[in-house]
Amino acid sequence: MTESYKSKPKKAVTRESIIGLGEDSFKKNYYSELQNKLVDLEHSNGRTKALIATIPDILLISDVSGNIAPFGDTFKNDNSLVFKITANQTLINDLHSVISQVVETRCLITHHFKMIDDEKIHYFEARVHISEFDEVLIIIRDMTEQTLLETQLRNFADKDSLTDLYNRRFFESFLQDLNHQHAENLTLILMDIDGLKLVNDTLGHLAGDQVIAATSQLIKENFQALGTVSRVGGDEFGVIILNQHPATIELMLERLSTAVKVFNTSTDTISISLSFGYSHHKNGVANTDWLFQEADNNMYQNKLLKESSTRNNLVKTLMKALEVKDYITEGHANRMGNLATMIGQCLHLTQNRIDRLQLLSKFHDIGKVGIPDSILKKPTRLTLEEWNVMKTHCSIGERIANESSELKEISHLILKHQERWDGSGYPLGLVGKEIPIECRILSIVDAFDAMTNNRPYREALSISMAVQEIIEGSGTQFDPELVDLFKQIIPEYVNEL
Ligand code: GH3
Ligand code: MG
Repeated sequence: MTESYKSKPKKAVTRESIIGLGEDSFKKNYYSELQNKLVDLEHSNGRTKALIATIPDILLISDVSGNIAPFGDTFKNDNSLVFKITANQTLINDLHSVISQVVETRCLITHHFKMIDDEKIHYFEARVHISEFDEVLIIIRDMTEQTLLETQLRNFADKDSLTDLYNRRFFESFLQDLNHQHAENLTLILMDIDGLKLVNDTLGHLAGDQVIAATSQLIKENFQALGTVSRVGGDEFGVIILNQHPATIELMLERLSTAVKVFNTSTDTISISLSFGYSHHKNGVANTDWLFQEADNNMYQNKLLKESSTRNNLVKTLMKALEVKDYITEGHANRMGNLATMIGQCLHLTQNRIDRLQLLSKFHDIGKVGIPDSILKKPTRLTLEEWNVMKTHCSIGERIANESSELKEISHLILKHQERWDGSGYPLGLVGKEIPIECRILSIVDAFDAMTNNRPYREALSISMAVQEIIEGSGTQFDPELVDLFKQIIPEYVNEL
């Protein structure tokens, strides 16, 4: 008899049956606790997968040696971005160094990086952390939208809407950050449009706005590559420049002046006139309050010389007062200013000093308003006593200039404008280079202009005779080096007359 053997129906082979769960299990797992753990593990695994599928971040995993691979299915989710990141060797090198730090410190590190894709910059944040099992997890989030939004918000807070330059708030906080810090070759330039009120009053506010916008454009074009340009007031601008020598600043200011001239010739609807002054901190601890004050003083000094500035009215009024008294004529002052400027430029004096020289040419005799006419206009020789009174015009002039914020910077020059190279001048009897260079230049040009123009008491000398007289005074009345320079310049000056 053949015994038929009927094999039991084949059980379905499922994951559950293999691990001993359910009716179809091959072998009942009698350790219910273990079964529960396995169920929990399965659930947790399912949740992790769902989580990974839903989060927009890119997940990478690395071993402690920096072998980076995609985590789970992230390659499928966003393969182009993951691929671009993992194919970028510079980014991967940066990630390697972050991974080393994380392995060493076992702390989470957040690393920011950017990548250019489709000619656009994309910003990312990578959070890198190490697990208990020495696997390094890298979670990369695309921060482009947020970063651009933040930049836009910061721009609203820091920028001026008319000119798109930084605003005063930003300028002040930048200066504050530099204050009391060690700095080298720090320059602060201040600029102010001349006569803007008049433009507003005559041509209208819109024309005023155009002047501001055109001026800011010129400043931007000339200075943005060098420093931080801000609109610090209605018609005022500030430029903070780090690590540049004064010679470069002078050159850039000259370029700006040329750009303004070119602009003015290219349009007849609006015209720009701009005053500027700067201060420079060579090295050591910077005091930005002083720097600001010095730049501001220099700027106002420059403004006094600008025809279109309302401040120039002060200069004009004072000049008229001096002319009425017959102490100095505007023509004499302007001629002296021009010749002195030519000498100053040959000596490569800074713009601030040339401005001072021009103001000194106009106002060195301002103290004569305090000298009685009986002495000042006496046709005959002065007595010793009268001469002593006459000499006080230097200190009177110094005091008058000190009372005016615009002329304060030149008050010490007014005091010293009658000093002589050999020490025989007054009031201080300074010798040689103790006398400020502005005064040494002025004494030559003043003498030359006085000699070459008619005076009530004598006819004008010829140019060659006047030059000869100056040469004779070299080393006694005048600085010999400046006399040599004067001799070279005079033909060009006469040509320009
Ligand atoms: P100064 O030559 O001495 O610089 O005199 P100013 O006429 O330029 O006047 P000041 O610099 O003392 O004052 C600035 C003027 O600029 C005041 C205001 O009438 C004008 N202003 C300020 N902000 C704006 C602006 O946004 N648009 C226009 N159109 N004008 C402005
Ligand atoms: Mg102004």
